[in-house]
Amino acid sequence: MPDYDAIVIGAGLGGLSCASLIAKSGLKTLVLEQSDIVGGCCSTFELKGYKFDVGASLVEVTRPLETLFEMLDRKREDYIDLIPCDPIYSFITEDGRRFSYPTDIEETTKVIEQIAPEDVEGWKRFSSIGIEMINRSMDAIMLSPLNTFKEAMLMGIKNPPVLRYLPTFFRTHQGVVRSYYSNPTIQASVAYQSYFAGAPPELGSGIFGFIALSEHLGIYYPKGGMIAIPQGIMRAGSEYGLEVRTNAKVEKILTQNRTAFGVMLEDGTEITSRLVVSNVNAQVTYLKFIRPENLPEWAIKGIASYKPSMPCPMIYVGLKTKPDLDAHHTVITGSIDSMNEVWNKYYVLGIIPKTAMSLVCWPTEADPDLAPEGHHILNFLCNAPAPYAPLGDNWDRLKDSYREEAIDLLDKHVMPGVREHIDIVEVSTPLDFERRLLQPQGSIYGLFSDMTTLAMFRPRSRSKAIKNLYLTGSSTHLGGGVPTTIASGIVTSRYIIRDHT
Ligand SMILES: Cc1cc2nc3c(=O)[nH]c(=O)nc-3n(C[C@H](O)[C@H](O)[C@H](O)COP(=O)(O)OP(=O)(O)OC[C@H]3O[C@@H](n4cnc5c(N)ncnc54)[C@H](O)[C@@H]3O)c2cc1C
Repeated sequence: MPDYDAIVIGAGLGGLSCASLIAKSGLKTLVLEQSDIVGGCCSTFELKGYKFDVGASLVEVTRPLETLFEMLDRKREDYIDLIPCDPIYSFITEDGRRFSYPTDIEETTKVIEQIAPEDVEGWKRFSSIGIEMINRSMDAIMLSPLNTFKEAMLMGIKNPPVLRYLPTFFRTHQGVVRSYYSNPTIQASVAYQSYFAGAPPELGSGIFGFIALSEHLGIYYPKGGMIAIPQGIMRAGSEYGLEVRTNAKVEKILTQNRTAFGVMLEDGTEITSRLVVSNVNAQVTYLKFIRPENLPEWAIKGIASYKPSMPCPMIYVGLKTKPDLDAHHTVITGSIDSMNEVWNKYYVLGIIPKTAMSLVCWPTEADPDLAPEGHHILNFLCNAPAPYAPLGDNWDRLKDSYREEAIDLLDKHVMPGVREHIDIVEVSTPLDFERRLLQPQGSIYGLFSDMTTLAMFRPRSRSKAIKNLYLTGSSTHLGGGVPTTIASGIVTSRYIIRDHT
């Protein structure tokens, strides 16, 4: 008898979502997490009384999370308190102008009218087409199994409106943006989200062009920090017998005759199971945990062909004062061309870009309890994406100068005089991300996503090469993100429940 029905490697959002659902279906399930906390990229660590979010800083598109809790027969609000953030974003343009987009679409129309009356008509078209697209196709695209052409065709047959939107997948993000807007400021305000999917506007799929609209359905911050989401999912799963073990690093997936039957931990302990789910990067799963000698040639070639997604250094700032900001998130924008330039002229050449474009998150605006009384937190993402291996240098050496440049940027563009209010500053470089999460090259979304790496072009949720092996999380369809990885956990659980219960 195996020790467990299912072992899940990694307590990220995909792993915990999948694990809690299969535990509910009656499978004796164990999650193994190498770090001392759950949540991976969506977690929170404490330093000198400040609770800093490791990576993810907001939740947009809450449908997969709500669906997960419905499938668990639990009320999401009993487990995770989501605080709405309105305005969605405040923007600071290159010339220092500030404006904000409220959640309300009509109110946003008024903001756009003031900046670029010529784009009001485009905004109205964008919002009406986009809301219909989101409402009619989001569940189908996110929550359907899309491992094969056959499954994709079945999804299209069951959801005809999706077919109408299919060409959008094969357009670029910037193509979609430019077809609705002509004003560079407005274009920039809806184009930077392509980096949320890990690609510049000229490479990102057009479907991500509508992230900017999905945000008007509401963006949220969980009380207690981003870790409250994986903790809430884990708590609901544990009510169905789910076990989660932290400080448990998996070294190997046990296989025989190309069938998974358990894992070996770093200390040599073997734990057996009927099936294994990996929430870890797909290349690590196949090439390190299983090893090339246990894989067919086509699988080695296939998995090796993916590129890692971009890394993103983060600056965590503890402030002794309240920052003078207008929203939970502030974006310092640049033009679409400059967003592409950061990628082409710097990131891919191994050079750290020097740009003002950045994203500043102010979590204590929503939840003051994250910092000591009267103090605040800014989680700050600048000069990103930055290469994992800076040409002729390394991040451990660059860390201090990088931190100083980031604070200078904050001082110049966001909060003049910020230095005198700083209590602590911590930097997480791509190397730090790699060490903390064991994510190769510190990539923040697992594998790179563009038009050619979605759906059946991404590693499958149910492995074709290894029987009883399943994958979930950002390496699988639809890539990185809080909603997408929760959705991937739901999809993977459906395969497992179909195959094993
Ligand atoms: C800087 C940054 C900012 C982001 N901002 C946002 C945002 O604002 N909104 C949004 O929607 N998304 C955001 N994301 C993306 C989102 O957080 C991630 O895509 C998502 O949380 C990843 O979930 P996952 O299921 O792929 O698991 P991961 O978070 O990748 O977790 C995998 C887990 O596996 C564990 N693990 C690795 N190796 C082993 C091993 N050998 N044994 C055991 N355990 C192992 C890791 O420790 C980790 O806990 C951001 C990500 C980053 C890094």
